[in-house]
Amino acid sequence: MSFPEQNQTIKCDVHTCQHHTGEGKCNLGSIKVAPRQGCNSGKCDESECASYHNK
Ligand code: SF4
Repeated sequence: MSFPEQNQTIKCDVHTCQHHTGEGKCNLGSIKVAPRQGCNSGKCDESECASYHNK
């Protein structure tokens, strides 16, 4: 069951992002995930967080 009006918990280990809490979570209410250009590996590295901002 999904709850589109409620924030989900976004777990993330990207410590260099300004939205990272340091506790393995993202502090944004939502993020955008985008395809990586030129990557057709069929693995998880085809996607990346487009909401990333360097600290
Ligand atoms: S914006 Fe993306 S990269 Fe940054 S903490 Fe959130 S999920 Fe991770």
